[in-house]
Amino acid sequence: MMDFKGKTALITGSARGIGKVIAEKLAECGARVVISDVLQELADITAQEFIGKGYTAIAIKTDVTNASDVEHTIEEILAKFQTLDIVVNNAGITKDALMIRMSEEDWDRVININLKGAFLITQSAAKVMMKQRSGRIINISSVVGCMGNAGQANYAASKAGLIGLTKSAAKELAGRGITVNAIAPGYIMTEMTEKLPQAAKDAFLSNIPLKRAGTPDDIAGVVAFLASDSAGYITGQVIGVNGGLLM
Ligand code: NDP
Repeated sequence: MMDFKGKTALITGSARGIGKVIAEKLAECGARVVISDVLQELADITAQEFIGKGYTAIAIKTDVTNASDVEHTIEEILAKFQTLDIVVNNAGITKDALMIRMSEEDWDRVININLKGAFLITQSAAKVMMKQRSGRIINISSVVGCMGNAGQANYAASKAGLIGLTKSAAKELAGRGITVNAIAPGYIMTEMTEKLPQAAKDAFLSNIPLKRAGTPDDIAGVVAFLASDSAGYITGQVIGVNGGLLM
């Protein structure tokens, strides 16, 4: 069991889905968790659910694409908990279409949330972590950021961009004791993947050597490891959690 007692963890997009499971895992290991999401009501419900289980949690409404929202979120965390030790850039969306039919609006929206959002959060959090001389930043990328995917040019570009951001931030922040890593999940069973057509689901499964979809717990375990002291010598890496889909 990892021990995050006395540590504060911010997880973006954690009202539901993979982010919620990540937040619960970190909370179980003793972290004070910040449930940050555009979905304020659901974020409140998630935080209350965690408090009911005996964990320390607060909900903050954050649109990661909005710089003043992001700054306010970091200020609120420091006012409440004094430190910010772990950041998980998890907020993300898809707006799929074949590239020749993709609207400029859908391109911009996906890049803004998935990539610019992670940049804004990382920039604000890094200022705090640099003063603390410690911190863990974990970016949730995707296997399609490494291998591309027809119908997901915007999403794949955003997730590949996140890998570039991860490596650059890792180089800039290493001297201050901050590690920055990315996780590239494969096909994980969530509401996001539930919406995929059955043919797409079958195609994914047939290419997975471990012959099953991943679960949010598969991702949360790796996040907890990367946030832990055991991962202190790992930075600038992309950890594939994909059942062998990409080797
Ligand atoms: P979900 O849609 O279930 O959760 C994402 C959360 O982020 C939602 O609550 C969403 O709110 C929120 N969000 C959206 N926009 C913003 C914003 N501007 N600011 C803050 N929060 C926002 O997705 P998953 O749990 O499936 O995915 C989590 C992460 O994992 C994503 O980055 C995704 O790309 C990545 N991933 C997922 C895979 C999968 O198979 N599911 C595979 C590979 C990577 P709203 O509902 O309003 O959009």
